[in-house]
Amino acid sequence: MEQVEDNIKTFEEEKPLNAEEAEALQTIAKEMLSKTSLPCTACRYCTSHCPRHLDIPRLIELYNEHRFTGGGFIAPMVVGTLSEAERPSACIGCRSCEKVCPQQIKISEMMKDFTARLAAKD
Ligand code: SF4
Ligand code: SF4
Repeated sequence: MEQVEDNIKTFEEEKPLNAEEAEALQTIAKEMLSKTSLPCTACRYCTSHCPRHLDIPRLIELYNEHRFTGGGFIAPMVVGTLSEAERPSACIGCRSCEKVCPQQIKISEMMKDFTARLAAKD
């Protein structure tokens, strides 16, 4: 209840960010974008083209998280719950997915790099 009351208090009055706060937010957003360099929009156009049926956008999301945190534990932990057939290492590098990706993401390279980064954590 205490938290609810605190939240209500926060949003009770419309109080836009001041210039300094907006600038800080922009800086953080730029930092995030520079590190999470794969702009996947999760449109899922690619998934039906993958002969390995990989959940490509989910793996990209985990990859971005792993890059952003500088190799944190969340992505390795989540990938560890997947079967071998669902992991980035199951990618055969056929690039069939890349032909339909509107963001022109080099998915096969990401899978390879993600596999190497995860192996380095073992
Ligand atoms: S390159 Fe990898 S992720 Fe892309 S379609 Fe082929 S097996 Fe699937
Ligand atoms: S097609 Fe490209 S942008 Fe769309 S989900 Fe696949 S990787 Fe992401």
